[in-house]
This record gives sequence, C-alpha cells and structure tokens, in this order.
Amino acid sequence: MRRFWGRLGLPGLVDVHTHFMPERVLHKVWNYFDTHGPLIGGLEWPITYRKEEAERTALLREFGVRAFTAMLYPHKPGMARWLNGWAADFARRTPDCLHTATLYPEPDVETYVREAIEAGARVFKSHVQVGAYDPADELLHRAWGVFAEAGIPVVIHCGSGPAPGKHTGPEPIARVLARHPRLRLVIAHMGMPEYEEFLGLAERYEQVRLDTTMTFTDFTEEFMPFPRRALPRLAGLGDRILLGSDFPNIPYPYVHQLHALETLGLGQEWLRAVCHDNAARLFGLASEEPQTDSGR
Ligand SMILES: [Zn+2]
Repeated sequence: MRRFWGRLGLPGLVDVHTHFMPERVLHKVWNYFDTHGPLIGGLEWPITYRKEEAERTALLREFGVRAFTAMLYPHKPGMARWLNGWAADFARRTPDCLHTATLYPEPDVETYVREAIEAGARVFKSHVQVGAYDPADELLHRAWGVFAEAGIPVVIHCGSGPAPGKHTGPEPIARVLARHPRLRLVIAHMGMPEYEEFLGLAERYEQVRLDTTMTFTDFTEEFMPFPRRALPRLAGLGDRILLGSDFPNIPYPYVHQLHALETLGLGQEWLRAVCHDNAARLFGLASEEPQTDSGR
C-alpha cells in the first residue's frame, strides 16, 4: 500500500468513503452482507476486514490513509440524531477521522444538521438506497440549502447499485441539483450502475464530485462494469473524483481498489489528484511533505 502512494510522491491517501458506526449497527450490517440480501443484489460478499474498531483504525493508518470518514446512515426516522452523537464522539477520539454526520427526511432534520455542523461535522452521508427516501423530498430541501451555503460535502449513495432502491437513479438527484446547484454532492460508487448519467450531472454542476468506492474492481466489473467509452470523461473530471473504498465492508483487500484505479491508465497526475489531492483540497487538509520513500 505504502509502495503505491510513495511511488506517486504522495504523503498518503485520503479515503472519503469508509464505514465506522456503533458496533451493534455495524454488526447488523455485516449480518446483512452474510445473508446475501436484496440490497446487495443477492451477491456473495465476504467482509475482508471484520475486526474490532481499534484494529480497523490501526489498519487504515498502516495503509497510510491520512484522513477518512465515518459513513453512517439511518434506515428509519428518529435514528440520525443518535448516530450523529456517536459519530461526534468517534471523531473526538479519532483525530484522523473527518467528523461525519448523517440525515433522514424528518421534521427536525434541519435542526440537527445545523447542530452537527456547529459541533464540527465536515462531511455528511446520505443513503438513498438503504433509507428508501426521495432525496428531493420537501423535508430535506432546507437541509440541502444549509450544506450548499456552508460548502459541506455530502457523500450520497444514490445510484441503483448493487441493487436499485425505490428512489435511486439520477433523476431525483437532478431535481435536487436543479434547486441547489452549488450543493457539494459526492456521488458514491461513481453512481454505479448509472455511471454515465451521474458523470453528466458532474459535468453540468461544478460542485458535484464522485467517489471511486468499489468501482473498477474485479468484483464490481463482474456485475456492473464501468463503460470503457466513458474513460475520457474521468480524465476530464480529474479534479473532482475522490478515492473511496467502502472499508471495512469490502470483499477483497484494500490495495485492490488502488490497483483498479491504476489500471485505468489515466496517468500518475490523475492518480495523485484522486487518491489524495482532490480530497485534501476539499477538506482543507494541511499539506505535508511527501515522506521520503527509501528502498523502492
Ligand atoms: Zn459504503
């Protein structure tokens, strides 16, 4: 891993899509993966990093991930505020975690979103597939406005992969962006499988970004391949594509995501931007001298 980013002359990686949540919630998620449930397309999905929290954060540090997130998300009303409390505490005891929060369409959403931002949240997670809500729901309108105004990115799982949800796909997101054109949405999984439609939204709205989570890996290419004809568009959006991994819930070793990006053949400058610089700029991370990498 260190060889990968050392070779690129980077001080490490920034991963905008890693999952940390209360243990019993995470164990429920893992159990769900074990049952090959419909939300994961009935796929065989062994969790590579099924470990205790302290081991998971230690692993990310060992990989050289300078900053990461705690993607957590409610599947029902009345849950987001509790998750945000946990995430604030996690961020306090995990200085390299970008303080993450979440939301759900419910009457108090604007209030707890503002509270989370005041408490230091720097990124939010919205899960349209699991939450089964319309992102253009009127209840969320003011929350999107708060994010747009504050320039706070929202990583949003809104594509119809690995399985479609009631409100997944580009159309509801297009409606949100029409009302909030400055909103910093980070389209998770590059919008899998509606890759090209979501690339189109990023080309149209200059604050929209995409994360690489699980995209281009052998696992994903098997069932939702990224269209080769769209590769030049990835080059064109090279300053708005961010490394995401889905650690720890991945059915392969972490380094495979990095190799999958390298195999696209978009060059070292593109890789540097995607694996570190774009997110470092977005989150205002202090630049560090690249570690000298002896013996490579
Ligand atoms: Zn994820």
